[in-house]
Amino acid sequence: MAGHESRITGHESRLVYLSLGSNVGDRAAHLACAIPLLNEAGVRVVKQSSLYRTEPVPGTAGPPQQWFLNCAVECETALMPRQLLRATQAIERRLGCKKLILRGPRTIDIDILFYGASRIRARDLEVPHPRMTHRRFVLVPLAEIAPGLRHPLMRRSVAELLAACADRSQVVHHLARLPGGNGING
Ligand code: AMP
Repeated sequence: MAGHESRITGHESRLVYLSLGSNVGDRAAHLACAIPLLNEAGVRVVKQSSLYRTEPVPGTAGPPQQWFLNCAVECETALMPRQLLRATQAIERRLGCKKLILRGPRTIDIDILFYGASRIRARDLEVPHPRMTHRRFVLVPLAEIAPGLRHPLMRRSVAELLAACADRSQVVHHLARLPGGNGING
């Protein structure tokens, strides 16, 4: 699959949506660092939500976790889905991703929410992200930048999915922009 993907040339650009989260150390700085790294990898960030402070998902093993900072970004890329996954995983590694405990603390976590209107169901990659509709920490930032975007399987907009979401965990507006100002969103 990887070889096949890398042979495709002139692949048209797709609109993709990513969810970014951090709950270790300087959380805002980790999120801010990811933006230029995405751009360098050929994933051009065109819109970015505010930062939100979000409650950790309950049921995590180990000591209580710090709250997360989360945001969502809209990007254009010519990378194929697995190339995109590899790029986001390389950024997670580069920023020192800590995933020692399942759903535990992490320097940065990048999830692919949508890849155009594609549906992908493979062992290593599911798009649209299968848990995004149950998570306010994903839907609130995404609804800020793309409320009318339609989920290709559920056929509801992001705003409708948020209104219907049963998750009651806290998602609190924190900062309108990432620190360091990266010039996106005008
Ligand atoms: P997590 O630790 O929750 O970030 O999960 C990472 C794992 O989820 C990786 O092994 C990915 O291959 C897999 N995965 C499946 N679908 C996605 C997706 N849409 N975005 C990011 N990772 C995904």
